[in-house]
Amino acid sequence: MRAIFIAVGSELLDLDRADTNSLYVARRLREKGILMDMKVVVGDHMDNLSWIVKRACQRAQLVILSGGLGPTEDDITREAVAAALKKRLIFKEEIVAELEKVFKRRGITMPEINARQAFVIEGAEVIANPAGTAPGMYLDDGGCKVLLLPGPPNELIPIFEAVYEKYLAPASNYHIYSRTFKLTGISESETDARCADIYRKYRNPVTTILASPGVIELHFLGRSRNSPDDARRLTDELAEKVRARLADFIFAEKDMSLPEVIVEELQKRHLTLAVAESCSGGGLGQQITNVAGSSQVFLGGVIAYANSLKTGILGVREATLKKYGAVSEATAGEMAAGVRRLCRADIGLAITGIAGPDGETADKPLGLVCMHLSGENFDKGVRQIFSGSREVVKTRSIYCALNLVREYLNQLSADGKGPTGPSNEAPVTSDK
Ligand code: ATP
Repeated sequence: MRAIFIAVGSELLDLDRADTNSLYVARRLREKGILMDMKVVVGDHMDNLSWIVKRACQRAQLVILSGGLGPTEDDITREAVAAALKKRLIFKEEIVAELEKVFKRRGITMPEINARQAFVIEGAEVIANPAGTAPGMYLDDGGCKVLLLPGPPNELIPIFEAVYEKYLAPASNYHIYSRTFKLTGISESETDARCADIYRKYRNPVTTILASPGVIELHFLGRSRNSPDDARRLTDELAEKVRARLADFIFAEKDMSLPEVIVEELQKRHLTLAVAESCSGGGLGQQITNVAGSSQVFLGGVIAYANSLKTGILGVREATLKKYGAVSEATAGEMAAGVRRLCRADIGLAITGIAGPDGETADKPLGLVCMHLSGENFDKGVRQIFSGSREVVKTRSIYCALNLVREYLNQLSADGKGPTGPSNEAPVTSDK
């Protein structure tokens, strides 16, 4: 079944209001195998709305509208849908009686204007609104089911739920199954380049790549008319092929953040972590301490923004700063070793960089960040040039540093012994 969602309201076209109703509806529809093909935001304009409703009903088997069912002149959804479907609006006395009762309970007389809410589209079933005055409407217009819901989310949800169980779920003709991979240490384009030849062969499941600073998500959504097992088999087949190409970068398959994964892995191995932060300004520590239970593994850290703190507290050598500068692999290495020593941690993790928008020099561009992990008999530094705003550069640095911990832990044996392999790998300069 194809579904189209139409959010009605001029306020949703302004800068400070967003349509969130469609997110709720899309999630619930998806749970029953109904995918939303399109969503549209339309202002309170009669011709525009009836134009779009007419086309949506020709195209989809389910059209859901939210908003514009109130009593005022700009609430035009009833009229627009009636016009689009060439139906009459019928005045229902019993709705007026119900509305009068609602107002009476509030201790006021119903304003006359509210009587507009008693107009019902010919052939539509009225769905009671337990949280407000605008009732919902449902009608099955031959090939298309049309659902009119009020805009306020607390009113929309109960009405949607009533129709969902009664009419929408039974009409669903697909089983769906979805899987997600969360990746770090790789860019969106690199992710695509590594697996596009696989997922492009499949129209079902559908693959979506979502990028945010430091994390890439790959979503696979398979559907089957036959059975839930079929949908699962299709999705698993594609997901496993993609996993074979990207395994090194996948940090979670369930709904876990990278900091959560790191804390869990540190807990399993009884290892402790301390951080030394310059350009990230405490953001690394914040990400880790946002995770419940992080106190078992996170000892603390130093925000060494000034060079005097890098030398005075973390023990970075004056000579290192002089020769290589504060933003350098050498300084990051000494910061990580210093905080590890200072906090008596198993792992020291450091970030130093130029988050911008100022501060670049001839040999050090904006976005240059050095991250370093210091462990027992182990050191690894990464040098990156990140693009984006100051905030984005900071976020990317934090995720890149956390990824160093992830890679380090992946190498450790379950008993917590450090790896004996080569240390201090060659620096990387691509923007991940
Ligand atoms: P009411 O009887 O409250 O007037 P209505 O159906 O006419 O109901 P609107 O007037 O269109 O609804 O919207 C009322 C409020 O509901 C909006 O100011 C907004 O806060 C919220 N709202 C409307 N549409 C959406 C949407 N798509 N997503 C999230 N909130 C919405």
